Amino acid sequence: MNRIDASEHYDESGFTSQTPSLLTVVIDTNPRAWAAIHDQLPISKAIANILVFINAHLAFGNDNRVAVIAAHTNRAVWLYPSPSSNNSGRLPGSSRRRNGPDVEMAGVDHRRLGTSPNKYPQFAQIESAILSSLRFLIENTNTSDLAPTTTLISGALSMALSYTHKTSLAFEPPKTSADPANPTTAPSTQPSAPNLHARILVLSVSQSEPSQYISTMNAVFAASHARIPIDTLSLYSAPTFLQQAAFITGGIFLSASSNPRGLLSCLMFGFLADTEARKSLVTPTQDSVDFRAACFCHRRVVDTGYVCSICLSIFCEMPENAECLTCGTKLAVGNYGARPAVVPRRKKKRKRVNGAGGGGGGAGGGREETGSATGTPVPP
Ligand SMILES: [Zn+2]
Ligand SMILES: [Zn+2]
Repeated sequence: MNRIDASEHYDESGFTSQTPSLLTVVIDTNPRAWAAIHDQLPISKAIANILVFINAHLAFGNDNRVAVIAAHTNRAVWLYPSPSSNNSGRLPGSSRRRNGPDVEMAGVDHRRLGTSPNKYPQFAQIESAILSSLRFLIENTNTSDLAPTTTLISGALSMALSYTHKTSLAFEPPKTSADPANPTTAPSTQPSAPNLHARILVLSVSQSEPSQYISTMNAVFAASHARIPIDTLSLYSAPTFLQQAAFITGGIFLSASSNPRGLLSCLMFGFLADTEARKSLVTPTQDSVDFRAACFCHRRVVDTGYVCSICLSIFCEMPENAECLTCGTKLAVGNYGARPAVVPRRKKKRKRVNGAGGGGGGAGGGREETGSATGTPVPP
């Protein structure tokens, strides 16, 4: 029968279920930055493009998850899953029922759902939740929030990492207790396949804030350790620390600052593949990475500086009393700035010793000049 309907390739014996993929989108919602590019790409259009991208990610697999965080000027806010479900103590959107409903209904305007029979309900729920959370955030942004010109990217990254960790735990297979009657069933030492492919995408519209250097890099190294790539799509400038984040974690950094209107194309063709699919793809890479760091003393991005040999703190200038501001180690700088003292090498005539009588130990040819005054001692 299989041969007749050509369905023998539907062999379910070797079928393995798809590993779910979690996409955490961090949206830079700095009002000043969005005002700067409003003529080219207003935030409303950008959100519409992001929703299309999120729907495409969810459509790739039944178990795929999404989380959206707004990195605002002075705080990081959950847009989806809705904040109300966070307060309940239960992990939002992480029902252990693999095929069950994924969406917390709290905070969702039910009247708006189901109005279009042509829209997949889950897409409508997520869209409604993100839009209502974003509207709430904008309405609750007052002038005091606009005083800092920065964006709290580091806080949003930390929230994304903690949510990824929680979701990963929810997907862990249940632990089976060891059978005491059969001691031979030792736990397998084989590395198990990951139960969740997670990645973080930052939509950035502002430059990196040097005061967040340490916290941002801590989050980046934590993501690198957990093998979570941090992708960045920059719409306005080239954020220094996020370039480094993509480089360190193996993520993708793309800049659409020349034409922000192409946001959807960049998202769909540059960032849709999850970590598993990227193994088979040649992903876009950065031509150059801005590796500059921020000094620990003034939070300035510096090209060259002093580095404590103990704790690797970076200083743009010598700290007072030459003591590291972080760990207190007395730093010995020596003659900083002086030309390195290079002893001119004396030109020696190369002696060529032939035969065994020279004591060369069978080395044959002449010894390489090492600059050392004495040769290698030989046994008598
Ligand atoms: Zn400094
Ligand atoms: Zn130190």
